[in-house]
Order: sequence, then structure tokens, then C-alpha cells
Amino acid sequence: MPRQEPAVRGKNFNEVALGYTPEMAAEEAGRCIQCPKRPCVAGCPVNVDIPEFIKAVRDGKMTDAVIALKNKNALPGVCGRVCPQETQCEVKCTLFKQKAPVAIGRLERYVADWERENKTAMPPAAPLPPPTGKKVAVIGSGPAGLTAAADLAKKGHSVTIFEALHVGGGVLMYGIPEFRLPKEIVQNEVNFVKSLGVELVLDAVIGKTDTIDELLNNGYDVVFLGTGAGLPMFLNILGENANGIYSANEWLTRTNLMKSYLFPNYDTPLKVGKKVAVIGGGNVAMDGARCALRLGAEEVYIVYRRSETELPARREEVENAMEEGIIFKFLTNPTRFLDDGKGWVKGMECIQMELGEPDASGRRRPVPKKGSEFVMNVDTVVVALGTTPNPLIASTTEGLKTTSHGTVVADESNCKTLKDKVWAGGDIVTGAATVISAMGAGKRAAADIDKFLMEK
Ligand SMILES: Cc1cc2nc3c(=O)[nH]c(=O)nc-3n(C[C@H](O)[C@H](O)[C@H](O)COP(=O)(O)OP(=O)(O)OC[C@H]3O[C@@H](n4cnc5c(N)ncnc54)[C@H](O)[C@@H]3O)c2cc1C
Repeated sequence: MPRQEPAVRGKNFNEVALGYTPEMAAEEAGRCIQCPKRPCVAGCPVNVDIPEFIKAVRDGKMTDAVIALKNKNALPGVCGRVCPQETQCEVKCTLFKQKAPVAIGRLERYVADWERENKTAMPPAAPLPPPTGKKVAVIGSGPAGLTAAADLAKKGHSVTIFEALHVGGGVLMYGIPEFRLPKEIVQNEVNFVKSLGVELVLDAVIGKTDTIDELLNNGYDVVFLGTGAGLPMFLNILGENANGIYSANEWLTRTNLMKSYLFPNYDTPLKVGKKVAVIGGGNVAMDGARCALRLGAEEVYIVYRRSETELPARREEVENAMEEGIIFKFLTNPTRFLDDGKGWVKGMECIQMELGEPDASGRRRPVPKKGSEFVMNVDTVVVALGTTPNPLIASTTEGLKTTSHGTVVADESNCKTLKDKVWAGGDIVTGAATVISAMGAGKRAAADIDKFLMEK
């Protein structure tokens, strides 16, 4: 897929990947052999009818492609951009072993973008079923909440999403940067969910403005919790409170949601130094580092305690970061931060690591190399070590059980929690995971909630 050149894109927040032309899309769709077993569909957590939408693209029937795609997926423009297709649908593609798999994600993006640009060409949406009179409260408007809300609205239930922030979309709005996922695309898909009759109430922090029990006592039949995992983890080492050390949440929220990259047109500032170190190796770390570069840092480091092979980030994003000039320090772990005597970070003492035996995650455990400490001179640090769920809802909801990691206990098959009338899915249950796994949970929860409401 065409992309902005690295030297150009490192200086702007415009989307890096530019999308297929109609000719490229038709050619790629033509590679699909339409195998009867449809292994790609089984690889998709929301079971999109992949062969159908690809066949429609191949045949130039774009409205059919949109209908086939959106039948199962309310957020195709998002998924076509950020889903790890290479480990899901594409890895199951029959062509995977022979040559390259069909680029399902890129075709998905193409179809979603076509619909956005050709709204008037679409036939009117199928009418919704008559109202059931049942009321559902969905807490959180990330991919889990939006998916559950869309599926429940399509069944005729009255759905209200309560969102703590001033805008809907969850991590898609506040975490993933504009150059990977333009916010206009997210809002277009949030608006699609609203067009199904879903009400979106913003600035509503459940657990503060209302508790779950208050919602259940005040007219809602059931509640779905999709509040994600927004609480950052830290290294807990000496000096971590120095100025200039950010959690990735703050760094990315200031940049993306509050648009500090457009300061002073937007009034959120962000102090960015010349040498920035981002600690971690996941998608969040890549996003933090690539934001730092675009915000004007001269040198940007990814500091990761394992080797390149273990990097959890999508390969595509690692390659993008490397092409843009991000410097990777593998097998390196910070041991303490040094300040300049005025409270600002000026350096980071690190130790070199080597890989030992595999740990519980199946990856080889990083072990410090004795006496290998060294100092990196950096004036900004972004800690991207992962997140856990915010404890607010669990601490204000009697009967909701949580694990020692703070995640809510729910049945994986139907997302039912141990509390009556409450379901939960997405990062709040799994811990930080992926957009599509959150959407899959939203779908399973919606199916079970619908069954519960209709049997009631
Ligand atoms: C920087 C970054 C990059 C990522 N990149 C990728 C990627 O490339 N591909 C991928 O598949 N995944 C990626 N992920 C992970 C993915 O975004 C998450 O797994 C997914 O968004 C989880 O969805 P969710 O609906 O469970 O929660 P979220 O998206 O976190 O949404 C939860 C929503 O609930 C709201 N909320 C929280 N508490 C309350 C409350 N008390 N009351 C009301 N509302 C509340 C929050 O404000 C938020 O809007 C990334 C994550 C981050 C942070």
C-alpha cells in the first residue's frame, strides 16, 4: 500500500498509509480463491464474512461489499487500519503458505473508506426491529462498548452509552495517534453506531456521577461494562517522579485527544525534550516514540528489556518506526532516573540484559548482566509498560469480582460477570489487548444480553 515517505511523515501527523487505489483493490481482491472452507472467517474474532466482501470488491459491487462487511463489523475503518490481521484472518488464508495471504485488512479499509466517500450511493439501511421496551446501559465507548451497543440496538433494545470523556471512541480517540488512525474515521464509525438509535452520554464517570446499582435501580434492565484498562503501570524505580517523565497515557492523551501537536491552536501544551526515551516494546511504545519524533525531538529511543524477536508490537509498526529513525535499544532495562538538581530528568541509568529460560508468558526471561550499568542522557521519558483497569467501578459496585490484576471476572463465552444483570468485556476483563478482541467480547455479551432480556 502506498505510504508517505519516512523523511516526510516524521514531520507531520497525517496518515502514514495512504490506502489502495481502485485498481489495486480489484487486483488484490482477485487473488482471493474463494475457498469453500473459509478459514479466514474463523480467524476473525467477529467472524466478518470475508470471502463475500472480497468477492464483491472483485466484481466492482461496492455497496454489496459494504453491506457484507458491516453486517458483522460496526467499525471497519478502524479495524482495516489497526487490527493485527497478520496473526488473525490473514494467517489462516489458504494462500498464506503458498505465497502472500490476501491483504484482507487493506481491502477492509478500502471498503470502509469507499463507503465514507460515497455515502449517497448506499441504499437506505434495513429498518430496525420494533422496540422491545428493554433498556441497556453500556459503560465506556471504546470498541467493546460500541460493538455491544450496535448489536443490541439492532435487536430493538434501547441502548445508552455512558462515557467518562468528552468524546466517544475510547483508546481509538485518546491513545492511537492520528497518523495511524485519523480521528475523523473513528467519529464516522461512532456516528454509525449512533445512527442505530444508540444514545451517547458524554462526561459521565460511572462510579461517580451514578453507580452501577443506581443505573439498575433507575430503569436500566442490564449493564455492560466496557471501560477498558486505562490505569498506567510504572517501573517503580528511583527518580521516577522527576519532571519530564510521563506515563504513555498522559503523553498520548495530551498529543492525540487534546491535540497538543496543534498547540497553541489547541490549548494543551506538552513539554518535549531533545532526547526522548520510550520504555516498552508494544504498540503503545511505538506510538509514543513516533509521536515524540513528530513533536520535534532530535533523538528518540525505544528501550526494551528483551530482544527484537520478542517485541509485542505489530511488525508493521516496528518497521515504520525503524524507517522513521527511531533508535532501538534492545536488551536494556532502566534501573534509576537522574535529575538535574531542579527536579527535571536529565538521564537514565540502565543495565544490559540477556535472555534466560522462558517465563510464564512463554518468552525468554530477561536477566540483568552484572556490572553492565551505563547512563543514557535523556531529557524526556515516556513509560509504556502496560495498563490495568481503573479500580473506580469495581470499588463502587458490590458483588463484582476482580482478579489480583484488577481485571473483572467474567465468563469468556458470554461475558457474564458474577453480579446479577451485569456483563463485562474488552480490556476491563482481559487487561490491555486488541481492538478486535474487545469487539469480539462486545458481540458475545450482546448475544447473551439479548437472550437474557427476551427470556425475562
Ligand atoms: C496507544 C495504543 C495503541 C494501540 N494500538 C493498537 C493496535 O494497533 N491494534 C489493536 O488491535 N489494539 C491496539 N491497542 C489496544 C486497543 O486499543 C484496546 O485493546 C481497545 O481499545 C480496548 O477496547 P475497550 O473497549 O475494552 O476499552 P477502551 O478502548 O479503553 O475504552 C474504554 C472507554 O471507557 C471509558 N471509561 C473508563 N472508565 C469509565 C467510567 N467509570 N465511566 C464511564 N466511562 C468510562 C474510557 O474513557 C474509554 O473511552 C492500542 C492501545 C493503545 C493505548
